[in-house]
Amino acid sequence: MTYKKVFPNHYDFPERINRLGELAYNLWWAWNPSASRLISELDRPLWDALNHNPIAFLHKVDHEILERAAQDSYYLDEYDLVMQKFDEYMKAEDTWCKRECPASVDGKVAYFSFEFGLHESMPFYAGGLGILSGDHLKEASDMGLPLVGVGFIYHQGYFVQKLTEDGWQETSYYHFDFEEMPIIALEEENGTPLMISVELPEREVFARVWMIQVGRVPLYLLDSNVQNNSTHDRQMTARLYSNDLETRISQEILLGFGGVRLLEKLGEDPTVWHMNEGHSAFLTMERVSQLVKQGMTFDEAAAQVKKTNVFTTHTPVPAGNDQFPLWLIDKYFPSTWKELGLTRDQFIDLGKQTQSWGETFSMPVLAIKLSEKTNGVSELHGQVAREMWNFLWPERKVEDVPISHITNGIHVNSWLARRMRLMFDRYLGANWYDHMDDEELWQRVNLIPDIEIWDIRRHTKRKLINYAIETARMNWSSEKHQPSQVIAEGVLLDQYSLTIGFARRFATYKRANLVLSDYERLLKIITREDMPVQLIFAGKAHPADEPGKLLIQQVYRAAKDPRSQGRIVFLENYDLNIARLMVQGVDVWMNTPRRPNEASGTSGMKAALNGTLNFSVLDGWWCEGYNGNNGWVVGSEKDYDDPTLQDKKDAESIYQILENELVPLYYQTRTAGDISEQWISKVKESIRSCAPQFSTRRMLRQYMNEMYLPAMQNK
Ligand SMILES: *Cc1c(COP(=O)(O)O)cnc(C)c1O
Repeated sequence: MTYKKVFPNHYDFPERINRLGELAYNLWWAWNPSASRLISELDRPLWDALNHNPIAFLHKVDHEILERAAQDSYYLDEYDLVMQKFDEYMKAEDTWCKRECPASVDGKVAYFSFEFGLHESMPFYAGGLGILSGDHLKEASDMGLPLVGVGFIYHQGYFVQKLTEDGWQETSYYHFDFEEMPIIALEEENGTPLMISVELPEREVFARVWMIQVGRVPLYLLDSNVQNNSTHDRQMTARLYSNDLETRISQEILLGFGGVRLLEKLGEDPTVWHMNEGHSAFLTMERVSQLVKQGMTFDEAAAQVKKTNVFTTHTPVPAGNDQFPLWLIDKYFPSTWKELGLTRDQFIDLGKQTQSWGETFSMPVLAIKLSEKTNGVSELHGQVAREMWNFLWPERKVEDVPISHITNGIHVNSWLARRMRLMFDRYLGANWYDHMDDEELWQRVNLIPDIEIWDIRRHTKRKLINYAIETARMNWSSEKHQPSQVIAEGVLLDQYSLTIGFARRFATYKRANLVLSDYERLLKIITREDMPVQLIFAGKAHPADEPGKLLIQQVYRAAKDPRSQGRIVFLENYDLNIARLMVQGVDVWMNTPRRPNEASGTSGMKAALNGTLNFSVLDGWWCEGYNGNNGWVVGSEKDYDDPTLQDKKDAESIYQILENELVPLYYQTRTAGDISEQWISKVKESIRSCAPQFSTRRMLRQYMNEMYLPAMQNK
């Protein structure tokens, strides 16, 4: 089966720069600032207005601007340089994999995930899981690892967040036109959309296939919004994380069964199948079922399939795991067990988990049972996962449960501020990017003059504050906002004040309101004239999460309160762009999950890389990242049975550290140039210790050596 990429052909580019369209269709531009600038610098306000979507931009940009650029020798020099870099990259002659791991180059990894967060112009992600998947693909591309992604494209996206005057989260949905996005439609030879189908109760459901080119890695995305389907089924892939169980199981059947059929149709033939979280675990059934149809018994087929499956679990909370009631499994798989040569009970056993309220079919259980290897996403989470899934190996002690851990990381080029990168180029050596997981290399951070770091950090803080002010200005001029809302959105932010950021999903365990728990004490801390402090919040609550929405409201009310003097701010509609501005722009990154609920967390890694200091509970990655000198710890390394007591202790710890250590360090250790030497020394320690360890480079090297290569050798 072949397929073709369809580029909208209504471009009318000047010949000299007509490869801009090709560039825009490969997300390589998203992590190469010189490439994205080639597009954005043509019309910066339009670029911002379109949320940095290059296809929409190239459709809308004034033709005269393009004509002028095609005559501008400075622009053309840039253009030629970028294109040369792009061509060299895509040729992939000298890659990490070829150098370090030639055995891998013949294999191929299929990476399945429910969400992919690649860029703000494509909001098909809800949070950390999606960002991690996106970073995984980008790093695989950089390293030359043969990998293809499989997931969904959601035509209504994750939602747009707006707050009412009283801080209540309201949601609205997008209606995307994929042809206005850097997304490629796959078609059959005859020009009809490329489709696959799966069987759902009493019907066949179809999905068409789109592709996003992520550097050298293709990401295939399923979309049920096609004419062959009923109106109801067309909505199946409209949004992420439906609370409706039938929608959810239908999506997962489409991803698991459909994803395998899709790769087959495209001739991809992967060696290793990586399930990123349990949502895609039905892929194991499709693989087994194909072998059973060829004549194997179920046990033989399962044993064979298992050898090349790997599974990553992300959820440390038992209730948070994806599971279905048994009646639903009976409804959606009325005869699958017969086809597999199993009894109904044997079939259910593949995913059975006994809960206090009864039995369920658990997707992670299915994934674990049919994978050669399973891993958690931080050292602490590995431990938690071994306890959680111990019941699957009742004869083993917790420490012998065969679940390992590979700590998450971040894709450095996607998260590093442009000026920081230029500084690293100067002090770490021009090819530091190729050796970023080398700890020795990062010792050179010591060579950077304090003033350079301080200046860059001031610049990135100004950028963040400008974003807040410009957004507030737009909202104000819409005549729908009250003055107090404009204050809450950040118009009073000050570029010289110590600024603390808190941005993440507003799930209750993340305790966004912990710092507000003794509000009077907080006000005293932030409003001192000689040492003012600002707090910037952002984040969405799941539309069905009422307690999460109440947390947002509590923060918003504090932001509007005149007594907080405009020093508490809430930025609406948290996304990749705001995340980037915040991790690069604030001085301190605060994270206060209720331990041990945060499997890893990655936003703090982004902060550390950019010289923002972490101030966090010892949970997830920070247990490994904190070394005593590179940030601060909230509370202690202890799990409490009583959450109220835990909250109280942790809040006390936050206030004490702010009052006695953190705020004074920022203001009271200034030298002649008004720079805090001791602060910058912590910043350097944080970059030096965290940057090499918490990158996707280190992470993928581990996936390669510990998961993919052994699975490839199993084939
Ligand atoms: C990095 C990131 C996350 C994950 O952050 P946590 O540390 O898990 O809170 C979520 N959303 C966005 C937009 C991000 O960039």
